[in-house]
Amino acid sequence: MTTLPETIHAVRQWAATILANAGIETAMLDARVLLGHVLGMSPTQLLIADSDSVSPEVAQTYMSLIEQRATGVPLAYLTGSREFMGLAFCTTPAVLVPRPDTEPLVEWGLAWLADHPTATVADIGTGSGAIAVSIAHHAPDTWSGKVIATDVSPKALATAERNADTLLTPSRRGRFDLRLGDLTAPLDASVDLLLTNLPYLTPAQMEENLDLRHEPALALDGGEDGLDLVRRVITDLPRVLSPTGAVGFEIDPSQADEVSKLLSRQLAYHTITTVRDMAGDARHIVALFPDN
Ligand code: SAH
Repeated sequence: MTTLPETIHAVRQWAATILANAGIETAMLDARVLLGHVLGMSPTQLLIADSDSVSPEVAQTYMSLIEQRATGVPLAYLTGSREFMGLAFCTTPAVLVPRPDTEPLVEWGLAWLADHPTATVADIGTGSGAIAVSIAHHAPDTWSGKVIATDVSPKALATAERNADTLLTPSRRGRFDLRLGDLTAPLDASVDLLLTNLPYLTPAQMEENLDLRHEPALALDGGEDGLDLVRRVITDLPRVLSPTGAVGFEIDPSQADEVSKLLSRQLAYHTITTVRDMAGDARHIVALFPDN
């Protein structure tokens, strides 16, 4: 039987070594976050309690989380939460872990909404609800429109619903609609702003990125060139987007030219540009109706 270390400090060091040996780059940080999670302590409380002893039960629970993290399970699934746009989103294994890369798309949408206070917004493939809930939460006070969040996965939609329930005020929650279905099929009337981060990876990219193996394939797999779903939504834009509406797609930077071309074919009068992520890559393709 293994003897478990006894103090917070020792247990954390032990965990960090296991994670580092498993090739986890953020071993120290992850060890600290997971211990704080198990003990219900903030990072500062954890530091203050550094030499306190740890019960065998806590050590066991912690060990089981560390073992899972060592096999690559995302931290957000183990703690059940991930911050996005300043909000703590509940993250279950049914949803993609929200990424900072997606925040510039939400910020772009919020800037557009400031000038379009009655706009209806749709987020197609909402997952945790990261885009839709952030928009509904952060939209300016003047905004009187509504948000529609769709997903084909009932489990993902249940997570989005939970996030809408916990992160939105009753007034904003009342204007937030969750709909189950394939891509734009649940949209029965046109929307003014469509934001979407659909699966866009190719089979080769999915194989290369071993880190992604614990996240749902349904949230990542974009078919042969990664654009199967994006293409279908673009084709349906004339039906689902109001003529002067705006759209934003998250993509892989290598797809920027192709997606711009596809969009310009469907939205002949729109101006198509890119929004960059924090690494400076063209991560989002957006289309605006001029002077609107
Ligand atoms: N918008 C979230 C999640 C993106 S992952 C974020 O930015 O974090 C992509 C999501 O699209 C997944 O939740 C997946 O279930 C959903 N999805 C995949 N195929 C779909 C389809 N055909 N129709 C609707 N949603 C789909």
